[in-house]
Amino acid sequence: MQDNKIGDLEFLSYTRFEAYRKVTNVVTTRMAGRSAGVYHSLNLGLGVGDDPDAVLENRAMLAEALGIEPLSLTFAEQVHGSKVAVVKSPSRGRGAVTNDDALSKTDALVTNVRDLPLMVLIADCVAISFYDPHQNAVGLAHAGWKGTLGRIAELTVAKMVSAFGCDPADIVAGISPSIGRGHYDVGEEVVDAFRKEFGRQVTNDLAQEDMDGTCYLDLWAANESQLLGQGIPAENIALAEMCTACHPGRFYSHRHDSGRTGRFGALVMLHATTSRQY
Ligand SMILES: [Zn+2]
Repeated sequence: MQDNKIGDLEFLSYTRFEAYRKVTNVVTTRMAGRSAGVYHSLNLGLGVGDDPDAVLENRAMLAEALGIEPLSLTFAEQVHGSKVAVVKSPSRGRGAVTNDDALSKTDALVTNVRDLPLMVLIADCVAISFYDPHQNAVGLAHAGWKGTLGRIAELTVAKMVSAFGCDPADIVAGISPSIGRGHYDVGEEVVDAFRKEFGRQVTNDLAQEDMDGTCYLDLWAANESQLLGQGIPAENIALAEMCTACHPGRFYSHRHDSGRTGRFGALVMLHATTSRQY
């Protein structure tokens, strides 16, 4: 990924998206925001115990640095489900100031509307960013183990195909910083559920047991394989390969911070006229 700085704001973007000037693709860090204590400092998540005013200031800082109207940021409720919403103009800004009107029971967003910034918030889960430069459509998916099991990455690609006529061969995708296999121990019931859904052989590649019998799950590979399975070429998939729990000073990590923490985010937006700001 590429490191960027605009004013005080530090963020990452996928180098794979670099050739395309009319799409903003951002993954934020936790640095240079207003939140204090365990939420230090660019917490973008409401409803995690942080001061809502600080969160809204952080969101505004991010939006303004990117040349985006803060009230247009559009969020999904994120319930670890498998619903993908096609976002149209009237939904612009849902979830921008309160979680109450975020797109309900939704974990992935796709749109072909310009100047409609989609956001997914995470702290260990995977955010997957999508862009089709031919049909001019973008998407974002939120995948923890439940969403991965529910094939949210796969369903997001399928939705881009059915809603916008995208050819998966044209789609570029980025898999965000998120919990790495080495830090993602899961219960036997999770591995069983994966075996049931994906088969024993596939699951054996994704979930490995250490000497003590602890199982570790590879969310990066699991989601990448869903993208490949839908026809996105391997060279179009960017893997951040950054573990949140290994970099707690840079990202929020639910596991590392024992549950009390903020959220960083991924953002994608198509531009109507101007180019992106970095
Ligand atoms: Zn790690």
